[in-house]
Amino acid sequence: MATVFAQITERAKTPFINEALTNFSQDASKQAQIEAIAQVKSELGRTYPLVIGGKHISNAKTFASLNPSQPDQVIGHFASATVQQVNEAIQTAAQAFAQWKQVPAEERAGYLFAAADLVRQRRFLINAWMIYETGKSWVEADADTAEAIDFLEFYAREALRLAEKQPVTQIAGEENSLVYIPLGVGAVIPPWNFPCAIMIGMTSASFVAGNTVILKPASTAPAIAWQFFRILEEIGLPPGVVNFLPGSGSAIGDALIDHPLLRFVAFTGSRDVGLRIYERASKHQPGQRWLKRSILEMGGKDAIVVDETADLEAAASAIVSSAFGFQGQKCSAGSRAIIVEQVYDQVLQRVVELTKQLTLGDVTQPDTYMGPVIDENAMHKIVEYIEIGKNEGRLLAGGQHHGPGYFIEPTIFADVAPQARIAQEEIFGPVLAVIKAHDFPDALAIANNTEYGLTGSLYSHDAAHIEQAKAAFHVGNLYFNRKCTGALVGVHPFGGFNMSGTDSKAGGRDYLLLFTQAKAISTKQ
Ligand code: NDP
Repeated sequence: MATVFAQITERAKTPFINEALTNFSQDASKQAQIEAIAQVKSELGRTYPLVIGGKHISNAKTFASLNPSQPDQVIGHFASATVQQVNEAIQTAAQAFAQWKQVPAEERAGYLFAAADLVRQRRFLINAWMIYETGKSWVEADADTAEAIDFLEFYAREALRLAEKQPVTQIAGEENSLVYIPLGVGAVIPPWNFPCAIMIGMTSASFVAGNTVILKPASTAPAIAWQFFRILEEIGLPPGVVNFLPGSGSAIGDALIDHPLLRFVAFTGSRDVGLRIYERASKHQPGQRWLKRSILEMGGKDAIVVDETADLEAAASAIVSSAFGFQGQKCSAGSRAIIVEQVYDQVLQRVVELTKQLTLGDVTQPDTYMGPVIDENAMHKIVEYIEIGKNEGRLLAGGQHHGPGYFIEPTIFADVAPQARIAQEEIFGPVLAVIKAHDFPDALAIANNTEYGLTGSLYSHDAAHIEQAKAAFHVGNLYFNRKCTGALVGVHPFGGFNMSGTDSKAGGRDYLLLFTQAKAISTKQ
């Protein structure tokens, strides 16, 4: 074991660097992705169990995950966990915690490095599962897998850093120290939109810090979570450290959150579900010995602001990619473009031109830019917002949807009032509201005038405007002269203000602290 620990410590000493994205213009990568897509296609439609304490359990009741590009194609059938199984899983995770919390940080980090190696090896297969299960384009799927590898590599190093001697002030006659210890059993509840990165990030942060986990995958992306769970089994993670519990959030979510043995919840998803979890987790249950900790990352209504000094071509191109990458289904999606009147017409015209060049269709093909939205409910909701938008703005592109998959054209509404519903509410689809501002202060005020505060971007070459935005643009992730999506682990710690959540800064040096508690130890000499 000593040699293994030494190897892990050595690996951790190599500085963290972001995983490179795959260059699909190279024949070898393109061919590998084509083959992986064919392999995953041959595996569609299987039935998967839930797993508690290492035991694979097949339930009579299952639910199907469907391909949003072709909803009659079943990705897989998944056991639908019952409330009784939630209780069993939590009891099992609590028992596993008694041992897991004593496992040294080197060993815990070693599991993350081992998992990172396997995700890297299976990169094209994991991409292919996302292409089929969530309608991601090749490039979007590949970026999601790269981010997952980054989380594993980053949090492994972070766990070792937190296990080091921590600085405290020493006084005469006492020896003082501070150690970070784990919390206990956590519920990890990821969304479907970064089904690999966010699911792996929240799960691995939880257990590398010494906690045990109930992983409840999003019901529209359980097959991707299963790929990761299988990797955890292959690398020999002890049974019960991560339990795999697919099932509908509305059916089992409350039982999971309310359980008195649950110590924390790591959730990423919508505002309304986040608020529900926050409220329920704060209620003390009979027999509960702690205040549950809620780590909640929620929605966004993110803006790109363009002033009169900006590089207008660069701004237009960033507006389009931020609004329509992965069909606008990112918490960081730039769903509002706020442009000062002096350059409004020019930027708007270019945004419309660039949008009309985007390709929408079959994501198993390498050059397709946009695929379907995630499911029928999402499609109906987005189509309703498009109808609302027709009364709130000038429709300049898109507006239509096509079957049999859930394909919605990239849609642009211009001249939208800042208070309009399509300028205030998270649509989570390919709908852009373009808003005219009188000048830069007006643009900044409009940008800040939503209940969210996740990402924002300013295109400007005016130093004073940039300084004002640094001070007053109230978002967790602020960018200048770049798009408002595409945060990189370690580089852009990620999380938002206000109704965007608890600003947990995933992929940053504060993140793992959320999964620990600090214990100060003093000895009188
Ligand atoms: P949802 O809130 O619908 O679902 C998220 C997760 O919560 C799913 O696993 C879901 O399960 C589960 N869930 C649903 N109801 C309950 C409940 N009552 N109790 C416990 N869990 C429940 O969000 P989406 O999956 O649709 O994700 C999109 C949202 O996520 C957007 O609002 C987006 O902005 C946000 N997001 C935020 C990010 C950030 O970092 N701030 C990053 C990525 C996304 P099931 O699937 O079974 O319903």
